Amino acid sequence: MHFDILTLFPGLFAGAFDESIIKRARESGSITIALHNIRDYAAGRHQVTDDTPYGGGGGMIMKPDPIFAATEAVLGEQATAVPIILLTPGGRLFRQSVARELSRHNRLLLICGRYEGVDERVHQYLATDEISIGDYVLSGGEIAAMVIVDAVTRLLPGVLGDPSATFEDSHAEGLLEYPHYTRPPTFRGHPVPKVLLSGHHAEITRWRRQQALRRTWERRPDILASAHLTEQDLAYLQQLQGTG
Ligand code: SAM
Repeated sequence: MHFDILTLFPGLFAGAFDESIIKRARESGSITIALHNIRDYAAGRHQVTDDTPYGGGGGMIMKPDPIFAATEAVLGEQATAVPIILLTPGGRLFRQSVARELSRHNRLLLICGRYEGVDERVHQYLATDEISIGDYVLSGGEIAAMVIVDAVTRLLPGVLGDPSATFEDSHAEGLLEYPHYTRPPTFRGHPVPKVLLSGHHAEITRWRRQQALRRTWERRPDILASAHLTEQDLAYLQQLQGTG
């Protein structure tokens, strides 16, 4: 997977892309990341990338021309084949299902906005997708781009040591993940649930599934409706509703 990231602040990505899983994925060649400074594509001696809004109001708006020029120069002939993703709080919500969908492409281009946002012509005539990472406003799209690169990368084959890990992650099947425990068996008087020490694999699998269902029902009932549920899951949820 190749990521192109268009930003006014490429220095922000140092650290996030130079440690741990992303670092290893880059070293192994599973991913490549190219940071492109939008300012390099701005015309004129001062390479201006923002301007005041038409119609008045506070703040500055990112001009369309440097963003179009950067995208066209970076993608060249591939311009129609690569998703051009604009990070914006007005975009579709980034979820695990969106990460999975994006992981099927072999190249993504991410545009990071700043200031009051980007000229509407970028939204309408350049971006092929608009993504928000949540219902809050960040100062810029860079952290949103890091979130997308991270979530997509861990889904790529060969990136995680244990490939089955992503199938059990929260949201993988529309459920939150079950709780994890490690040694010691009792910590400050709080014991690990007995079933996990039993060595009985079928019982452990059943307990974990029920914990995932219970946790999702308690904390995120909104996502339960679209989860993949078996007859047994539904029976357990009915039981919970009866006692809840
Ligand atoms: N005035 C804009 C609005 O209300 O929609 C917010 C602009 S924000 C301060 C600057 C940039 O940060 C945006 O152009 C976008 O690229 C990025 N950004 C902010 N919040 C975001 C979010 N929740 N998801 C993705 N990108 C976001």
